[in-house]
Amino acid sequence: MSNDRNTVCLEISDFSKLLALLKSQGHLLVGPTKANNAIVYEEIENIESLPIGWTEEQEAGTYALRKREDKALFGYNVGPHSWKKFLFPPSEPILKLTKTKDGFKVLDDDYTTPKYAFIGVRSCDLHAIQIQDRVFTGDTHKNPRYQSRRENAFIVAINCGQAANTCFCSSMKTGPKVEAGFDIALTEIINDKDHYFTAEAGSERGNEILKSIPHRHATDTDLTKADECTARASSEMGRKLDTTDIKNLFYENYDNPIWEDVAKRCLSCANCTLACPTCFCSKIEDTTDLTGEHAERWLSWDSCFSADFSYIHDTTIRSSTKSRYRQWITHKLASWIDQFDTSGCVGCGRCITWCPVGIDITAEVKKLRHNDGNDDDVKGVSNGQN
Ligand code: SF4
Ligand code: SF4
Repeated sequence: MSNDRNTVCLEISDFSKLLALLKSQGHLLVGPTKANNAIVYEEIENIESLPIGWTEEQEAGTYALRKREDKALFGYNVGPHSWKKFLFPPSEPILKLTKTKDGFKVLDDDYTTPKYAFIGVRSCDLHAIQIQDRVFTGDTHKNPRYQSRRENAFIVAINCGQAANTCFCSSMKTGPKVEAGFDIALTEIINDKDHYFTAEAGSERGNEILKSIPHRHATDTDLTKADECTARASSEMGRKLDTTDIKNLFYENYDNPIWEDVAKRCLSCANCTLACPTCFCSKIEDTTDLTGEHAERWLSWDSCFSADFSYIHDTTIRSSTKSRYRQWITHKLASWIDQFDTSGCVGCGRCITWCPVGIDITAEVKKLRHNDGNDDDVKGVSNGQN
């Protein structure tokens, strides 16, 4: 094995120096941290902010933190948050007006945003960011706020060394090994004797950062250990989703009774869309203050599960839960491909874990393929026996 990607090794103390250097260069560090009984993405100060020695158990509708037996810094998978909450915030003003004697004046559009450094971005989430790039910056109508945040963001990715029961990135070809779209990609190597990172630069600025902190050149043994980490994550993948001819599967099953079956379970709560790192639907709301002197226009996340989302000309087009779930899953896995040339799903499993009634996108696809609502069949998928 040759180190043709110029991979280096960082001791844990060197990783601390990496965070400090990014901070000293004006980056706001955001990364995984433990809060509200979950691992979430928030602003972090230093290595101590990470969920050291914690992991999680995930299943359909279930999430629980567990202590690990080691001091791994990234020994877990994805939680309820994704990076879209920083690049495409849940709610923000996009226009501010003030009254003048002649009418209204538009105030300066100030969308200065922090220069983020995202610490610990998983491969599925790198793909999700690339999908949202296509949506927000890939065409004639760009979102300048998203674009500004995205261009300034420094990405430290982490290769997964384990997979959750709800993960299926291997099926979606989005992981578990990061391949592109990062500034630095780390692999955490931890066992009885070792605890260090391999680090690979994915951009010139990533290369400059790695050159500025203490490191040693990675040996073949280090590269083998790093490969073993991602191989372990692949072998632990808890779910599978068969993507064969998936567009036609959905387009040919618009009237399948399976949609009635899922509607009996779905609460139309929209959790799946809010937790999903690729969902981008939004709404616009105009507000004024009580004096009538100032007005603002706000852009906020919305969901195809809300009744108002399809309200047009005095009627809600998708008035039933059946039609909303069918719309969501058909867009994710079929019409997204026509619209953006990719799947809308990266296999992160968040919609499975955070659905309060445990509806599982992989199980619903399997039922559609088998044209069968047999619950035993679905349990087989839930146990990774697909
Ligand atoms: S549809 Fe579900 S599994 Fe796919 S990207 Fe969204 S949250 Fe993740
Ligand atoms: S599938 Fe689950 S998370 Fe999504 S709207 Fe229905 S009940 Fe809520």
